Amino acid sequence: MIKKAFTSNQWVERSLKAVWHPCTQMKHHEQFPLVALSHGQGVWLYGQDGNRYLDAVSSWWVNLFGHANPTINAALKDQLDQLEHAMLAGFTHPPVVELSERLSALTQHQLGHTFYASDGASAIEIALKMSFHYWRNRGFENKKEFICLKNSYHGETLGALAVTDVAIFKDAYGPLTKQAHIVASPDCRNAKNGESASDVAKLALADLEKTLQQHQGNIAALILEPLVQCATGMAMYDASYLTGARELCDQYQVHLIADEIAVGCGRTGTFFAVEQANIWPDFLALSKGISGGYLPLSLVMTTDEIYQSFYHDDITKGFLHSHSYTGNPLACRAALATLDIFENEQVLKKNEVLAQKISAAFDWTRQDARIEHVRQKGMIFAFDIKASALKNGFAKAFFKEALSHEVLVRPIGSTIYIMPPYVLSDSELSHLSKGIQTTLEQVLINHA
Ligand SMILES: *Cc1c(COP(=O)(O)O)cnc(C)c1O
Repeated sequence: MIKKAFTSNQWVERSLKAVWHPCTQMKHHEQFPLVALSHGQGVWLYGQDGNRYLDAVSSWWVNLFGHANPTINAALKDQLDQLEHAMLAGFTHPPVVELSERLSALTQHQLGHTFYASDGASAIEIALKMSFHYWRNRGFENKKEFICLKNSYHGETLGALAVTDVAIFKDAYGPLTKQAHIVASPDCRNAKNGESASDVAKLALADLEKTLQQHQGNIAALILEPLVQCATGMAMYDASYLTGARELCDQYQVHLIADEIAVGCGRTGTFFAVEQANIWPDFLALSKGISGGYLPLSLVMTTDEIYQSFYHDDITKGFLHSHSYTGNPLACRAALATLDIFENEQVLKKNEVLAQKISAAFDWTRQDARIEHVRQKGMIFAFDIKASALKNGFAKAFFKEALSHEVLVRPIGSTIYIMPPYVLSDSELSHLSKGIQTTLEQVLINHA
């Protein structure tokens, strides 16, 4: 095994020479650690140096049932001996058929047609292109603009960036994108004196309606992250916003695209976040957790009505989009094993209990005067550090200190959050809560 041949430091050095790491100013690694991993087990990641880290962010929100999960491992080993990959144009295979059918059933067959890609941003590109192309096929050539929410995040390819509102990702590439209309976010932290989360949602809906009125004939779709805008600091909002947005989209003949790449697969408590608003979107994008965090897989589900608008003798009315690994059998098989676990182990029911335990374990956050906006949706728990308690470089300092307490947590600005794998045990939860509390004392005191 190659991993024995080098020390942890040697792996880090070699990586920094040859690997360009994502979402990273590489020069920062002069001061902040790059961690060389050797293996994972359950909620733990193990370093080459023998240290361990509780993966409280599910490795960028992808892992659901722990690293080296026995059920998913077994399914993948079985699939390896049957079919590792084949093109999906002109061919099909059992894993992609079964996955599409089971996903359709999970939407009560409202979204019965599934298109596949590999990463989340590609799924967003697909949903945007499909929406635009649907309207063109139906004779509405002018519907080629999109609406997104303030502080939205939908990925970092150029099309996805156009509907993303995160300055640090977007500003450098602004000249390359066709910026969408940005409407108010229903982020419940926007509540002013006495306003409820549903009041905030109402105000945000009024802003959405204004934009729809102004640009009605030109808008193809509204895209949003249901219930939680994750990438911009776990901004949580009331489900009534989704119900209202669905009504407005119907009224103004605009598609609703639900980006459930982060919030899908049970993160907010229900399998799909939109279920909490009793609505279905016209397009629903999934990725991240759907393969259990094992393999790149993304998909867009849509309605029969939209599918039928592409079904035609004329090839140009078809959806001519593809990726080399579309519908990869291994990734689909990992997804099927993931859905098996959800069913066989009654995961959503068990998570209701786990979510309460998380809330209880972090009760100390509600007592700390330096902390505000303690919030939770299902398996996502977050709180903010008040500006008065913060020093520059908080997020990086926290990350570094937390590692020394065997915890992997990456704050977003002043927001600390956990989005752990669903297999977190009581003792692991306690380790996590204590690790975060201790880290916070170190980081805030060191900077005071
Ligand atoms: C992660 C994410 C994406 C992008 O997915 P990638 O696989 O990173 O391209 C898009 N939307 C949301 C809400 C996400 O969290």
